[in-house]
Formats: sequence, structure tokens, C-alpha cells
Amino acid sequence: MPARKAAPAAGVDPTRSRFRQIREQLQQVDYFLKGTVLKRMMKCGQPTCACHRDASRRHGPYFEWTYKLQGKTVSVKLSPQAAPLYQAATKQHRQLKVVLARMERLSRTALARLARQADTID
Ligand SMILES: [Zn+2]
Repeated sequence: MPARKAAPAAGVDPTRSRFRQIREQLQQVDYFLKGTVLKRMMKCGQPTCACHRDASRRHGPYFEWTYKLQGKTVSVKLSPQAAPLYQAATKQHRQLKVVLARMERLSRTALARLARQADTID
């Protein structure tokens, strides 16, 4: 099919293609979770245990997923097997927020331009 290059017309929206490009990144989004995964080494309840004298002999690692719910921090214990899954999901969430922030910035620019154009037409 012969592609015809459209001349940039009045009313063209230069933000549109950039917005679409970034929107495609949403197709790659996998399961996501807010919050962070923490790895902890713990002291036990046994006062004579070496973990109390030597930080390198603490027990663990123990994994926790923590997130905020209505201003409160919620912690969920994770098995060592689950930790990488949750870690990847929290990373997905951070990336998703970056993508959404970019889309919002472009939307702001585009909408301001569209509003100006609408004003001119009136
Ligand atoms: Zn101990």
C-alpha cells in the first residue's frame, strides 16, 4: 500500500505519537504489587545464642513484603521461594508508576494545547 505522508496540518497533535509509544510499554506489564520486599537477619529469643553477640551469625534470611494500607504499614512474611516473585512484582509496580507519570505529563501538555486550539476555534 503506498504510504502517503500527511503534511503537518493545523491542529496536529505532536504529543499523540509519543503518548502511543509510551502506552505500548503497558503491554509488557506483568503482575504488580505496591510496596517493597525486605530481607532480614534476625536475633532469636535464646540469650546465649551467638546471634546476640555477632551480627554475622543472625538467623535468616527472612523475607517480608511491606506496603502501606490507609496510612499503616502492613507486613507479610514470605518464603524464600516466594520472595523473588514478590520482588519482581514490586519492581513492576515501580516501573508502571514511571510509565504512568510520563503519560500524565504528556497528557497535560496535549490537553493544554487542545484547550488552546478549542479556544481559538470558538
Ligand atoms: Zn540465635
